Amino acid sequence: MIKTVGILGGGQLGRMLAQAGRPLGLDFIFLDPAADACAAEWGDHIQADWSDEAALSELGQRSDVATFDFENIPDDSARLVESLCPVYPAPSALFASQDRLREKTLLQELEIPVAPFVPVSSRPELMAAVEKIGLPGVLKTRRFGYDGKGQAVLRLDEDMERAWQKLGDYKLIYEAFVPFDTECSIIAARGRDGLCVYWPLTHNLHRDGILAISRAPAFSAGTQQRAEALIGKLLEHLDYTGVMALELFMADGELLANEFAPRVHNSGHWTIDAANTSQFENHLRAICGMALGNTNNATRALMFNLLGEMPDHGGESSNQYPATGVYWHDYHKTARQGRKIGHVTVTAQSDTGLRARSSQLAAYLGVAAELNLESVL
Ligand code: AMP
Repeated sequence: MIKTVGILGGGQLGRMLAQAGRPLGLDFIFLDPAADACAAEWGDHIQADWSDEAALSELGQRSDVATFDFENIPDDSARLVESLCPVYPAPSALFASQDRLREKTLLQELEIPVAPFVPVSSRPELMAAVEKIGLPGVLKTRRFGYDGKGQAVLRLDEDMERAWQKLGDYKLIYEAFVPFDTECSIIAARGRDGLCVYWPLTHNLHRDGILAISRAPAFSAGTQQRAEALIGKLLEHLDYTGVMALELFMADGELLANEFAPRVHNSGHWTIDAANTSQFENHLRAICGMALGNTNNATRALMFNLLGEMPDHGGESSNQYPATGVYWHDYHKTARQGRKIGHVTVTAQSDTGLRARSSQLAAYLGVAAELNLESVL
């Protein structure tokens, strides 16, 4: 019987996994180099570097099953843990997602539509890439990019030099800029037995490359089916176990894949308060070999990411936003500008109710002017 889950990474995703796992009777051990890893309040913390072999061995020996909350851990570290206990998703899925070139090539091989792309590792290659793919385009680092970091948008020929100055030290890819109408993500869980469940496709709004808002449900049954078919190909190909997210652009009614994350995902945080089973619970159910829970929405939901500093959400301030259907999640992280510090999910039974509550909350958070809420509601 599985009792102890080891997690490579101890950030908010690990923390929310542990919060979902406690009622399932699971204990948690986190390996994370940060002394103040926010998941550590919910389990044991091995504070060590990602490649510390003794620490990885300790995690593997003490865990019945292991997983990760962060895709930039070295895949060799996950393989070392895997020599001591099962690791889900398999380190090969981690490996496939870590390099944008490898990732996009895999998506293309599986006939999952992506924007045209080419690898770039020199100035002449960048010029040739712009010549081939055209402008506008996005130059991205192949590794370690997240939340829009390690990217430059090129609109004019003269942007090439500026982008090269910024990113030229790294291995890169250049891809066509997608003039998308909306961004969305499909999140799925696949059990050890191969059965898959999918949450409603989520409509996402980014600001400065960082997710700002997610809303679900938001798309037609036909679009949902198409998104499920796309992520389904990846899940089957990788013989995947656990939760995966596929980020998509919708342009002219077509879905194009941007990237996939072999883990629970920020755009699925609303599932904690508004789906019958959250992404965190189903990830644990999948990796522990339990039956997966129903992923339908219990209510409509809109999540705001909270960056920098946690807003006051108790006492008198609670009179300034709706009294019911609002769920605050404080990750207990030290405040820092731009840092993901928590999220708040608004729920309602109707679209009208969701619109009213979300507008009131956006005004309270002071983001009503900068976020185009109308575009997601
Ligand atoms: P990424 O790090 O690839 O997830 O990109 C972060 C955000 O940048 C995306 O969610 C989009 O808003 C934007 N973005 C990335 N790639 C493209 C692209 N090829 N075309 C248009 N926007 C993009």
